[in-house]
Order: sequence, then structure tokens, then C-alpha cells
Amino acid sequence: MKISKISAYRVELPLHETTYKWSGGKSVTLFDSTIIRVETDAGVTGYGEVCPLGPFYLPAYAEGVRAGLRELGPHLLGADPRELAKLNRTMDAALKGHPYVKSGIDIACWDILGQSAGMPVCELLGGRYAEDVPLYRAISQDLPAAMASRVVGYRAEGYRRFQLKVGGDPDVDIARIQAVAAVLQTGDRLVADANTGWVQHEAVRIARAVRDIDVYIEQPCLTYEECLAVRRQTPHPFVLDENIDGLDVLLRAKADLAMDVVNLKISKLGGLTKTRQARDLCISMGIAMTLEDSWGGDIATAAIAHLAQSTPPEFLFSTTDFNSYVTVSTAEGAPQRVNGRMAASRAPGLGVVPRMDVLGAPVVMIG
Ligand code: MG
Repeated sequence: MKISKISAYRVELPLHETTYKWSGGKSVTLFDSTIIRVETDAGVTGYGEVCPLGPFYLPAYAEGVRAGLRELGPHLLGADPRELAKLNRTMDAALKGHPYVKSGIDIACWDILGQSAGMPVCELLGGRYAEDVPLYRAISQDLPAAMASRVVGYRAEGYRRFQLKVGGDPDVDIARIQAVAAVLQTGDRLVADANTGWVQHEAVRIARAVRDIDVYIEQPCLTYEECLAVRRQTPHPFVLDENIDGLDVLLRAKADLAMDVVNLKISKLGGLTKTRQARDLCISMGIAMTLEDSWGGDIATAAIAHLAQSTPPEFLFSTTDFNSYVTVSTAEGAPQRVNGRMAASRAPGLGVVPRMDVLGAPVVMIG
């Protein structure tokens, strides 16, 4: 089987909440997502999706996905999409870095492998654990009372895990954590995610101020070293995210005892193949994970669900249903949230059928 054509579609994904705000005054009102279609000479077609969280979250931006595909795509024509390790080596040889560009192609090729084998991707990624997986809800940055009331609302929809977007003014952030903690119930989990937004001394002070609250602290500062310094001064369980973009830093963080949980995003690492490698290493090292992506719609959510569902439940801290945040559906068959949980499709591959009328005309065509 050979890759015969690679296309990409640009889709705009508005938010039900109209805007999503996080640290440092950053916000997004409309997500710019790229859906990648990989066709083969055997008539099997796979789909992937890459959707950066704006151009200022990770070193990735939406138009960069398309530009990168135009550069990378011609090198992949004729390759066997089912030989995923080999395909990833070919991508890394043809384009240095830019993991997010490669992610959508890798996901689409897992979709093809699954369809070819007649197996859902989660079974190929290691096996289907449990019936479904627990979701967290990201709570967009707002005034403390507004964030607390949003948690109450999402709790009523079934979510039990909440990730507060902090990383703002330290005194307001302390109030945000306190206000939300006050409305939680036994069994709920709370994460305060500063998304690199605190200066080191502020992070230490905030962690001290909430030391009696049952809360995880996620990625308080910009650099790994700053986060490690904070980690060593706080009793809270600790999550690293933005800094963990490959195996080198993951191994270093394990050696430094720098985290209790790590957030692995598929496009941050460069696709399902590389995220699976990091995921399996974390399982061997005893590190639990939030498994997700930077953002996306139905196809990204399907890929996330297969990755999460193939992870032992005790190591799956949480995952995300991004398709429920946005108002546009790009595919049939994607996971749908039920009582704060979702399940990967049991159909072969990712189990999604794109809505071509929503995708429109391709903006990238190779082959
Ligand atoms: Mg995070």
C-alpha cells in the first residue's frame, strides 16, 4: 500500500463559550484547525487533525501546519502508511523539527492502519482498557465567582475533573483557586494550570497560600528550571506540560522527580506514534498522564480518545473532549461525552467519517 495523495482542509471552529482565556491575557475566539486527508493506491483513506491553541501557546501556528505540509508532503508519496515507525523516520529526515506538522499525517496513517487491519486504533495502540475514559473540563480564566459558577454548571453535566486557567494576577489566582475549591465535592479533582504564567516567586507564594487546598499545580512558570524550583518548595502534586515536548526532557524530569503527572499532547510530541512511545515510557516510570492535544474538533477528539482508551486507567489522570467545546462538527462517529466520560469508537481505524460539506475545498493538495 502506498500513499498516493495528501490533502488538507482549513476549518474554523467557534466556541460555545465564545472565548477561551488563559494565562498572560491570551485568548482565542475562533480556532483555525487543519484536517489532513491521506489517500492510498489501495483505496483506503485516513484522516488526522492539527489545531494549535492560537500562535502563542506552543511553538506552532495554524498556517504553519499547512505550509509545513506543502514542504513535507511530497517526500511521503509512495511510502507505506502502515509502516508507522519508518514513516516517522522519513518525516524526520525530510523536515527537521516542526512536530505539529507531522502529527496530522501520523494520525491519518494510524487511521489507515486500523482500517486495513479491521481494528480500532486503540487496540493497535496497546488494547482497550475499561469502557470509557474520564474527562476534565478546562475553565476559561475569569473572575473567581464566575469560574466557580462555571464549575458548578459543568459538574451538573457530569464532569468531575476541572482545570482552572490561572497564571494571572497572583492575588486573584489565589481567590480563583479558593472560590472553586469551595464548590467541589468529594471525588472531584482540581488542577490550577498557570500555563507558564507565574514568575517563580509568585508561584511559590500562591502555592503556599493554597497549601491546605486539595489542588494540583500545573506548569507554573516558563522554564523547566523555574518549575523545578517551585516543585521543590510546594507539597502539592505537580504537573508539567509545556516544557515536556520530547523524551529527553521527560527522562530528565523523571530523574529530577520534577512531576507527579505529565500532560502529553499529540501534536506537541509529533503524532500518535511518538506520543505512544512517551506514554508507554511514563507507564514504565510510574508517571500518570493527561492525554490530549492542543485543541481540535471531532477528528482530534477521536485520536485523543483512542490514545486515552489504550492507557491503563491508573495512569490516565484525565483526557479531553475538545469537540464539545466547539460549535462545528467536522465528522460523524466522533466520541460524544456521556456523564463526564467518553469512549473511543469500536469501528476500524479512528472510526470517523468527515463531513466533506463542512471541510469544503482543500487548501493543500499533494500528489
Ligand atoms: Mg496544561
